[in-house]
Amino acid sequence: MSSFHPSEFILHPFVSKRDYYDILGVPREASKDDIKGAYRRLAKQYHPDVNKDKGAEERFKEVSEAYSVLSDDEKRAAYNRYGHAAFQGGAGVNDFGSFTVDDIFEQFFGGFGSARASGARRGPRRGADLRYELNITFADAVHGAQKEIEITRAEVCPTCVGTGAEPGTSPTRCSTCKGAGEVRQVRQTFLGSMVNVSTCPACHGTGETIATPCHTCKGRAKVRSTKKLIVNIPPGVDTGTQIRLSNEGEPGASGGPAGNLYVVINVEPHPYFRRRGDDIWMEFSVNMAQAALGAEVQVPTVDGEERLKVPPGTQPGTVFPLRSRGVPRLQRNGRGDQFVVINVLIPTNLTAEQKKTLKELGKTLEGPHAGSEEKKSFLDSLADFFSG
Ligand SMILES: [Zn+2]
Ligand SMILES: [Zn+2]
Repeated sequence: MSSFHPSEFILHPFVSKRDYYDILGVPREASKDDIKGAYRRLAKQYHPDVNKDKGAEERFKEVSEAYSVLSDDEKRAAYNRYGHAAFQGGAGVNDFGSFTVDDIFEQFFGGFGSARASGARRGPRRGADLRYELNITFADAVHGAQKEIEITRAEVCPTCVGTGAEPGTSPTRCSTCKGAGEVRQVRQTFLGSMVNVSTCPACHGTGETIATPCHTCKGRAKVRSTKKLIVNIPPGVDTGTQIRLSNEGEPGASGGPAGNLYVVINVEPHPYFRRRGDDIWMEFSVNMAQAALGAEVQVPTVDGEERLKVPPGTQPGTVFPLRSRGVPRLQRNGRGDQFVVINVLIPTNLTAEQKKTLKELGKTLEGPHAGSEEKKSFLDSLADFFSG
């Protein structure tokens, strides 16, 4: 577990993707014409209607995806800057599965749609963060674990890579607003001319219109997808600990980075271990004879059973520490301790013979009036309590 980064726990569940420039076989500084030429050549070569080779379709998709990003100045800039992370979510082409009739889509993308309709500013926008509550056992919190979770989120459409346009086509400049995303209306009033600026109703502020919407996402640029992720839970987490999975939130818009996913830990209570900070407390019961005569007992710890010597004359409530048997300190070295609180069981259903023996024994013991040291110290502490 030493491989955890000290400040965050990041996970990249996606299969690493090939560089878009490599896919098209062009240098990073390639001109738009070079990119277009390379795309045409490769698209012809791998088009599924032409090329029946196994893998050709995958290559064709890959080439189309690379082209749709590199042919778009804004996306290309985002890609140059952030790499595939700029469109993360779209990466999961393979496990991109069932999506969806429009009503589910609308329900899911309500926030997205309204942000767009309300004329949210253009340019790259970071995706929203997501929150996932994860229940884990006490043991997993102590030792750490890997857990698989399933999240449902929007993803950049893998077909059009977030353009909303059918691959091979691209969005065109909105003719209503000439690409500005907003329209100005000048009204003459008795105060003079008033300029009213509002979001372009034709393109909803994007500045672009899509002539041939992508068949997968119907031009929305995003699809709903359920994805399995592995969460690395470091040893020492507690209820409320948040684990950040960078870029696993909702995808960004216009090439902006994805939001983060925050996995919020909830630790289920343990039947007998109680946690206080990094220490673990537990009650352990011995019988009268063990308490009086002393005994060696096996006490459970989070690492298994441990031998504990209960010395003769151990009183109820006595606490024995087991050093370094507590919870590992999260992102630090060392562990807390375990504290064993001794409880002495008073028998409740003695046999006749046991009663007789105990009576005999009782005659030889000091009674409550004898003023034993324990009793004195108890009264002393009571006095201290009321005076202090
Ligand atoms: Zn699409
Ligand atoms: Zn417009």
